[in-house]
Amino acid sequence: HSVFANIPQGPEDPILGVTVAYNKDPSPIKLNLGVGAYRTEEGKPLVLDVVRRAEQIILNDRSRVKEYLPITGLPDFNKFSAKLIFGNDSPAIQENRIVTVQCLSGTGSLRVGAEFLARHYHERTIYIPQPTWGNHPKVFTIAGLSVKYYRYYDPTTRGLDFQGLLEDLRSAPSGAIVLLHACAHNPTGVDPTLEQWEQIRQLMRSRGLLPFFDSAYQGFASGNLDADAQSVRIFVADGGECFAAQSYAKNMGLYGERVGALSIVCKSTDVASRVESQLKLVIRPMYSNPPIHGASIVATILKDRNMFSEWTVELKAMADRIISMRQQLFDALRARGTPGDWSHIIKQIGMFTFTGLNTEQVKFMTKEYHIYMTSDGRISMAGLSSRTVPHLADAIHAAVT
Ligand code: PMP
Repeated sequence: HSVFANIPQGPEDPILGVTVAYNKDPSPIKLNLGVGAYRTEEGKPLVLDVVRRAEQIILNDRSRVKEYLPITGLPDFNKFSAKLIFGNDSPAIQENRIVTVQCLSGTGSLRVGAEFLARHYHERTIYIPQPTWGNHPKVFTIAGLSVKYYRYYDPTTRGLDFQGLLEDLRSAPSGAIVLLHACAHNPTGVDPTLEQWEQIRQLMRSRGLLPFFDSAYQGFASGNLDADAQSVRIFVADGGECFAAQSYAKNMGLYGERVGALSIVCKSTDVASRVESQLKLVIRPMYSNPPIHGASIVATILKDRNMFSEWTVELKAMADRIISMRQQLFDALRARGTPGDWSHIIKQIGMFTFTGLNTEQVKFMTKEYHIYMTSDGRISMAGLSSRTVPHLADAIHAAVT
């Protein structure tokens, strides 16, 4: 008799569970558009050439050892990660008032930031967009924050509910934390324009709201690393404080290496160093210190001018292939005369299209066409190829007619 005899079966994760179901399907035409991982035209996972090259360098360097990293991670990795998101010539970096710690990819960075806030910040409420990445409410709740939503997406326009967003942030309690997707909002693919970001910034600063940026797709939205960090940089440029969680899963294809960073922009060096001391106290009992391999790859690439530029070319190729998939899917639906306005497919940004298909239609496409996606109708454009676009277009056409 097990001491766990009464343990209930837990539900599958709503996003990763899609892949579990896909793996079980024996159909040769099955298509996985669930998880946000890049695939080539041939439907294969991609390891970037520049990553292979960095790994070779690391492997050949006999001076490298397997010692523990500091609690805060690899110093070079932290330094260059901050430059990547805040900009090479960011005054906040020069003024030494940003603390950056290496964490376990984007998720771990969000979690460490949330634990820090729950311990040291006076306001425990975090506002997250409606809808948002499914893991956000869980990460923040379990860290001890109280989650509320702000309006973000308008299903009638399939665009941003900007008025709703402003109203909800205006009525948030002073000091509340606000989670913002830095670019390529997941799952909607809808981002504010730069003018709208500027209005959001003014409103948040005037209400004393604390911005927490989640940057999981820098370079993936537009193909340009600087353009995709503009939202974050306008908030840092005003001298105010903010949080940023970075992930290298998508933009370097380092999904399984679990490499990311949490930065906290402070008002002064003195505050930053006290904040860092407390971050160490958060991290030490959680996982002691982060793993070395992924961070070494990233640091090797970021600090070498040639490798950095090689990376940007490969990154742009991934972003461009996704953009071209949007166009091909849109054209295929038009060619079939599929009823409805599908222009949001080419207007939305980043890895995902929020199709507008409902749960029933998604179920139908999985059952009849072996196409796997999350039940909210989100499809990963990175999982699509010229070869599979017609199959998806047939399925969508059948689902809506
Ligand atoms: N935030 C968002 C919005 C995401 O889409 C993801 C990845 N799906 C993450 C954070 C974190 O991913 P990871 O932990 O793999 O870096």
